[in-house]
Amino acid sequence: MSDLREKLGIEDNAVDKEIDMSDVIEKEVEFDFNKYIESDTKTKPVTKAEQEKSADIKKAKPVDLSKISIMDRSPIDKEKDLKEVLYGRMSAVQIVAAQSGYMAKVIPLVHKDQISLIYSNLSAYEYKKTIFKVIYDKVVMFSVGSMTFEEWLKNTSVSDIETFYYGIYRATFPDGTYTFTCPDCGEYSIFKINPNNLLKTTDKKKMKELVTAVSKNAINKEAMETYSLINKTEGFELADSNIIMELRTPSLWDLLEIYRNVPETVIDRDEDSVTMMLYIKRFLIPYKTADGEINYTEQTDSQEVLRIIDNLSIDDSTRLKNSLYERENENRISYSVKNLTCPKCKKEIKDIPVSIEDILFTQIFETE
Ligand SMILES: [Zn+2]
Repeated sequence: MSDLREKLGIEDNAVDKEIDMSDVIEKEVEFDFNKYIESDTKTKPVTKAEQEKSADIKKAKPVDLSKISIMDRSPIDKEKDLKEVLYGRMSAVQIVAAQSGYMAKVIPLVHKDQISLIYSNLSAYEYKKTIFKVIYDKVVMFSVGSMTFEEWLKNTSVSDIETFYYGIYRATFPDGTYTFTCPDCGEYSIFKINPNNLLKTTDKKKMKELVTAVSKNAINKEAMETYSLINKTEGFELADSNIIMELRTPSLWDLLEIYRNVPETVIDRDEDSVTMMLYIKRFLIPYKTADGEINYTEQTDSQEVLRIIDNLSIDDSTRLKNSLYERENENRISYSVKNLTCPKCKKEIKDIPVSIEDILFTQIFETE
């Protein structure tokens, strides 16, 4: 285990966290899933006046230095003052990691995070790890007690990372925008992100109950495990080959493992198969014994798993995809920009599935 950790280059503890919950005093933003999931408000375009105002906000205000008084303060007071102005006005945004079974509070990205996310000539694996570390450092509170970076990677599902982006996005860019290209008239327009109106899920009733239960009860690691889908696997047989697949809900750790083990050229070429690989814990390959009994051997090696996926019959691969799709969407919160009307041709669009990761990164690159 420690060997593997060395290979992954993951530090054991999280003591380098600069901020904790007690530094963030301005306000807390509730997750409010149960209210937001029913919201059906319109996504509004950004007006000319708002565009001008936001350009204005980006300029520093001139001050008359002769009117500023400089005082002596103790180092302890100075440190307190600094924390107050840097962090005291931040909001901590609450999120529920629904597949992972815990609640967390996240704070905005700051300049150094922007630098880490933008300036990178790292391998895909190292870059993914950097992104996860940036996200982890933004968490000021876990409902289930603190977690090291490694524990967090292992306890957090890949699909829940979108919800972390959602929280960080709301905290960092409360007045976020979304650039929309109309499929009918081709016009670009900028819309206001409406955080109350982004959330989606396959089964509203079930998810409402889950979010309520996790918010209330996930107060320690044992409770987390009862709600978490990670480590709960299911078996399915593929009818053509009689291969059995064991499906899992992958963690961020599992994702990093694939990035570490599978060559980048393969990941780029065969993204679909790599995604499937993520959800497959192992394949069981049947064989007949001398007395006609069916036994199995197992295959867990990532390259071999990928080879099996690539060579399944079309029907078996459809079966695999369907089971996997269901697994992926179980207890999943996804995101859509809803109820938007093109300002030019007036075409109405009910629902545009979006990646909050993309929206967040676009905004980070634009503001750099
Ligand atoms: Zn249009």
